[in-house]
Amino acid sequence: MSAKTYEVRTYGCQMNVHDSERLSGLLEDAGFVRAPDGHAEGDADVVVFNTCAVRENADNRLYGNLGRLAPMKTKRPGMQIAVGGCLAQKDRDTIVKKAPWVDVVFGTHNIGSLPVLLERARVQEEAQVEIAESLEAFPSTLPTRRESAYAAWVSISVGCNNTCTFCIVPALRGKEKDRRPGDILAEVEALVAEGVTEITLLGQNVNAYGSDIGDREAFSKLLRACGAIEGLERVRFTSPHPRDFTDDVIAAMAETPNVMPQLHMPLQSGSDAVLKAMRRSYRQERFLGIIEKVRTVMPDAAISTDIIVGFPGETEADFEQTLHVVRQARFAQAFTFQYSKRPGTPAAEMDDQIPKAVVQERYERLAALQEEISWAENKSQIGRTVEVLVAEGEGRKDDATRRLSGRAPDNRLVHFARPDQQVRPGDVVTVDITYAAPHHLLAEGPARGVRRTRAGDAWEKRNAAPEQKPAGVMLGLPTIGAPAPLPAEPGGCAVR
Ligand code: SF4
Repeated sequence: MSAKTYEVRTYGCQMNVHDSERLSGLLEDAGFVRAPDGHAEGDADVVVFNTCAVRENADNRLYGNLGRLAPMKTKRPGMQIAVGGCLAQKDRDTIVKKAPWVDVVFGTHNIGSLPVLLERARVQEEAQVEIAESLEAFPSTLPTRRESAYAAWVSISVGCNNTCTFCIVPALRGKEKDRRPGDILAEVEALVAEGVTEITLLGQNVNAYGSDIGDREAFSKLLRACGAIEGLERVRFTSPHPRDFTDDVIAAMAETPNVMPQLHMPLQSGSDAVLKAMRRSYRQERFLGIIEKVRTVMPDAAISTDIIVGFPGETEADFEQTLHVVRQARFAQAFTFQYSKRPGTPAAEMDDQIPKAVVQERYERLAALQEEISWAENKSQIGRTVEVLVAEGEGRKDDATRRLSGRAPDNRLVHFARPDQQVRPGDVVTVDITYAAPHHLLAEGPARGVRRTRAGDAWEKRNAAPEQKPAGVMLGLPTIGAPAPLPAEPGGCAVR
């Protein structure tokens, strides 16, 4: 009898992407195999939704998808549907009340229970709803099936101790829990031994790492310790909070060669009054002060951010302050969002909700300003020689014969002319930047050098054996080689 197949659909932030790698690992450990590339919807024996709860339409989208699967399940009674992630943690048994054809509902703190719950639902022919109130096991202790052969997420903490008024994450992911530094470094060393060349340290509030284990400098020490791991070429981290951005972290970034000159730091608003209403515990001056300190020691660092437009009570003068910070900070990239109510958050109950038309108009002004700055910042890269980590699945399909794509150390996307020598994802190509667009760079001339790496070998080995080929599961996101910023939903530090 052939093995049962599964698919995992992922929505929301990188924390969910990381959890989905664990869900896939758990199912494969339990004998399931991934549904083949391009399989028809409803063909998989088990469909798992790893949901996001940050925006209102997140609910509509989930129930819409579940509705579409209902008739398929009627035709195939053995098929099972499971719902996990933040929306499951929030809605719990409401999901099986609204969609009684769902077999399993599990939360953000007990993803490890999925295989057992699927089996129990099958044997007892009854839906299983199991939500833990606090973390049962650090996801990193669970089996995993990583999407990329050469880049990996490494979770260092879960949950958040902040209480931003627009955010539902603390209610769904709980208080901050830190992993022991030794566990993290052991995982990083094991990944490097498998050929991984780039890691991204993950945490809802990554630079607050250490508050749970009583060491306020634990994060900068972790960065420096990663700097000593042989074969680890690139270290990134996401998402930091401006309040916890201390000098020791900036110094560790500047003094540790494999920590990349790239920083994503959510601003959310440039107005002190709005930051106060958001309960963001920093103000404009501190935010710009951090940017200045970072640029003093890492002048080439690419800085990106998140901004919410139209937060309740935001005046035209407040919005002008946001534009002022954007002009000052000169972000390489900004993820801009229109505020939308999230039931269950304090901001949703606030007076003075801004009319949609006003929010839209401000949003367009901000987007136009940032587009101009992103392009100008990218143009300043023309003439530079950069090392590009070749990525999988980031290039334009219609161009794959002539060009490949990848990420520069500052995480900028680079499309470059395909070298004569064979190049694999995970290898490193040195190129000269010849053209800049607002959201990518081009290197049209011949490569200056190609470095075949252990990461490239790992990719080749993984893609040699047909059963090892990473099937294009129906993720909410494209299969990405090196971690790339994701257009996440506002209202939570979208762990990028
Ligand atoms: S926005 Fe980020 S820092 Fe604020 S509560 Fe949400 S996850 Fe925590």
